[in-house]
Amino acid sequence: MHRPFSTSIHVKQVRNIALARLRGLGALAFPSTKQISLAHPALNLPNCAGLKQRGQGMKVVVMGAGVIGVTTAYYLAKAGAEVVVLDRQLGPGLETSYANAGELSYGMTSPWAAPGIPLKALKWLFMKRRPLFIWPLISPAMWKWSAQMITNCTEEAYAVNKARMVRISNYSRDVMPDLIAETGIDYDGREQGTLQLFRTQKQMKGSKADQEILAQYDSPFEVLDKEGCIAAEPALAEVADKFVGGLRLTADRTGDCRMFTIALAEKATAMGVEFHYGQTIEGIAIENGKVAGVDTDKEGRVTGDAYVCAMGSFAPRVLNPIGLRLPVYPVKGYSVTLPVTDDAFAPQSTIMDETHKVAITRLGDRIRVAGTAEIAGYDGRLGPHATDTVRYVINDLFPKGGEIEKFEGWTGLRPMTPDGTPVLGKTPYSNLFLNTGHGTLGWTMACGSGRAVADAVLGRTPEIDFDGLTLDRYNIRL
Ligand SMILES: Cc1cc2nc3c(=O)[nH]c(=O)nc-3n(C[C@H](O)[C@H](O)[C@H](O)COP(=O)(O)OP(=O)(O)OC[C@H]3O[C@@H](n4cnc5c(N)ncnc54)[C@H](O)[C@@H]3O)c2cc1C
Repeated sequence: MHRPFSTSIHVKQVRNIALARLRGLGALAFPSTKQISLAHPALNLPNCAGLKQRGQGMKVVVMGAGVIGVTTAYYLAKAGAEVVVLDRQLGPGLETSYANAGELSYGMTSPWAAPGIPLKALKWLFMKRRPLFIWPLISPAMWKWSAQMITNCTEEAYAVNKARMVRISNYSRDVMPDLIAETGIDYDGREQGTLQLFRTQKQMKGSKADQEILAQYDSPFEVLDKEGCIAAEPALAEVADKFVGGLRLTADRTGDCRMFTIALAEKATAMGVEFHYGQTIEGIAIENGKVAGVDTDKEGRVTGDAYVCAMGSFAPRVLNPIGLRLPVYPVKGYSVTLPVTDDAFAPQSTIMDETHKVAITRLGDRIRVAGTAEIAGYDGRLGPHATDTVRYVINDLFPKGGEIEKFEGWTGLRPMTPDGTPVLGKTPYSNLFLNTGHGTLGWTMACGSGRAVADAVLGRTPEIDFDGLTLDRYNIRL
């Protein structure tokens, strides 16, 4: 198998590996880069002084106020840019960033397109509580995207895609503490890892391959037997006969993506960012090979020096007409949120039920349960039985933890690329940039990709290499 980091190791990767080791040793819990730089000058991230100089006086229009658009706007404003954010909703984080599983899952950063997945997907389609639904739509975009995804299921493609995704995730892991420290945002965050729970010995054995990959990326993990799982998540003692062990990703974090997005939008507003809500973007106007403005239904044309498209699953709707055929397709998922009844019987962090592909996360005094991949186009309806599987799993594993009858159901569209990697940075239009296609990991990657794209917009070299992350990998020509 191709080992992506084996031949040339970038200085930043060395720093990230060092950080991961420090975390693994328990030396730092959610460290800010400031703390790190005091103790370890060699690990210092470049400060934002230069960025600020370059950003000043530049007007940037950000399309979309989900977690990706808002983090991008924050970093742009921090650098001194004048920022306008446009969104059709009446507030931030009201679409896919609203009620996701809440995992900041650096250790579980992987593309869905993996060796063996086509066969597994076929089996999932026939399971009683299946994690995958495919509606046979007459949609060339869907079939093209699915075919592209299948071609990414080789070992070689998986290794390349995984390395690209981990590059963004690990960067996000490293920069998020600074953002939290400087803004003081409360987002019901915790730092207690992810527990992947295995119900069978076969699953337990199957995780050996994952462990090798985790070791390769210096993602700290623990292999746990039944007692180890109960030590990490004491409420599991109630259902000890239902699982055999687990894999705990100790550096993972959890938190409410929507709370974060709202709070960061408030901070950004205080820094001068203008949020124009209730504005549906109808198109991007091109003149002389550049973006001349964004056309909205109410305000008309909104102009700036540069533009960032952070419209999640809906980005292709404005990019296709200008010749950028972005392979982002919506993959629907569901969640329920319920109040905790008794802390002793509730989850403490994220538990990922490997059998049903459902994640259960503790968020303050609530429990979020999310899962299911449904390929159903842009259908945003929440059917009466849509959340049956996620409700079954919470009842099965934490029967006394929360008030299931008080659940709030939700559905969202994951903006998925066929290779799992988001699309960041430049486009053939010199003043148009992308920050979209984060699929299952938009919350995990938001701070890293927001900061890196802000750097790219402002003409500064991003702290991660953009090779393989931009539109260039799809060979799109105008
Ligand atoms: C069930 C589920 C569970 C998930 N769990 C996790 C998890 O645990 N961890 C994780 O990291 N990720 C998770 N994700 C993925 C994550 O939620 C997404 O990747 C992320 O929210 C995408 O953010 P975004 O800002 O790109 O998109 P969005 O939040 O959808 O934001 C896009 C914005 O663009 C606006 N917009 C779109 N079209 C227009 C238009 N024409 N005019 C004006 N505005 C427009 C929308 O109103 C929206 O506000 C999950 C997703 C789902 C569905």
